[in-house]
Amino acid sequence: MPEIRRSRKVEKHPGEDEAKEEAQQESLEIEEKQIKSAGEVKEEVYEEDVEKENKEEEKESESGIKGVELEWIPKTVLGKKVNSGEITDIDQILKSPDRIMEPQIVDKLLPNLEVVLLNIGQAKGKFGGGKRNIWRQTQKKTKEGNRIKFATFAVVGNKNGYVGIGFAKAKETVPAREKAIRNAKLNIIKIPRGCGSWDCGCGEEHSIPYKTSGKSSSVKVELYPAPKGTGILTESEVKKILDVLGITDVYSKTYGQTKTKINVVKACFDALNNLSRFKRK
Ligand SMILES: [Zn+2]
Repeated sequence: MPEIRRSRKVEKHPGEDEAKEEAQQESLEIEEKQIKSAGEVKEEVYEEDVEKENKEEEKESESGIKGVELEWIPKTVLGKKVNSGEITDIDQILKSPDRIMEPQIVDKLLPNLEVVLLNIGQAKGKFGGGKRNIWRQTQKKTKEGNRIKFATFAVVGNKNGYVGIGFAKAKETVPAREKAIRNAKLNIIKIPRGCGSWDCGCGEEHSIPYKTSGKSSSVKVELYPAPKGTGILTESEVKKILDVLGITDVYSKTYGQTKTKINVVKACFDALNNLSRFKRK
């Protein structure tokens, strides 16, 4: 436990904390306004928000006031083994048939996870489309009126071969986001990276080792190894997933109804999962 806290402290920028607290209050207000004017929500605000919130949580747990991590009392056998230090390598868990049921397991074993929220929302706006946002809103008509729910996709990764995606829906945006992040952690998988391109052969882990493909509904995503310096030539949301996984060069092809970003994201994750030796169902 203490080692993790110390290493996090180093990463933080001490001077920024006060400014962040102010900024957070401000951004919360902005967030509320933006939800009301749904469709024009800007993704950047949310991403910053999540980062800020994560930092706030870390800060709290460091001082032990409302410590999320300090007060982690593992409920599962796996959680107990991780908390006691019996398991220190996440690969040990991913190789086993055990499922991760507690996100704290992932927090502890992969402390440098980055969180990215994907733009899966509808593109609203004049002239046939505006900016996409991270919330996909669904309305259910009831006697009392329309009941709105927010759905979002979160991706977590450590830029070093581990990635997970999570989807969640809730009546409000904050719980939807928290649930999505939690689900992403529980879905974490290890992806073998490599240099599978014939034109490259540098042997570094900048791409994928061989061609892979995945499906979700009508959407098919194919990923191909690319030589170093190519970049990630694909859909913006797929790019985010590969980026957080720590891959810099990939070609891709997508087929089907790619306007439905949820299916694009799922198909991409399926393709990556097919590379993994320890597949998740
Ligand atoms: Zn290479």
